[in-house]
Amino acid sequence: MRIQTKQRIQHQKGQQNHLHVKKGDQVKILAGKDAGKTGTILEARPDENRVLVDGLNMVKRHTKGRSLPGAGNIPGGIIEKPAPLHVSNVQLICPNCSRPTRHAHKIGPDGKAVRACKHCGEMIGGGQGG
Ligand SMILES: [Zn+2]
Repeated sequence: MRIQTKQRIQHQKGQQNHLHVKKGDQVKILAGKDAGKTGTILEARPDENRVLVDGLNMVKRHTKGRSLPGAGNIPGGIIEKPAPLHVSNVQLICPNCSRPTRHAHKIGPDGKAVRACKHCGEMIGGGQGG
């Protein structure tokens, strides 16, 4: 007699996924209308596995003018804003050798984990800005 056990990895609420890119990173877009272009990550959303890239994957939003209590008047019109891209559609670009790269984990001189370029071995990002 066989007992089958199903093991499922559950995503717990509040537990943050780890993205291979973070805010401030230079990335290359691999899919969509801006494929091949590069930009800087404005915002990382680990819970959605998505990132916002400055000036890329822009979408037009038609908004109506309205007034909100406390927020004042919001003008209507067409605004362009970056749509979130899935992290699998962006590739990290090394700021040191300017090549699309994967990063390796290294332990820095202060004992903290840092990211390093697999091509040139230089550290990526540092700790600036979080
Ligand atoms: Zn590099």
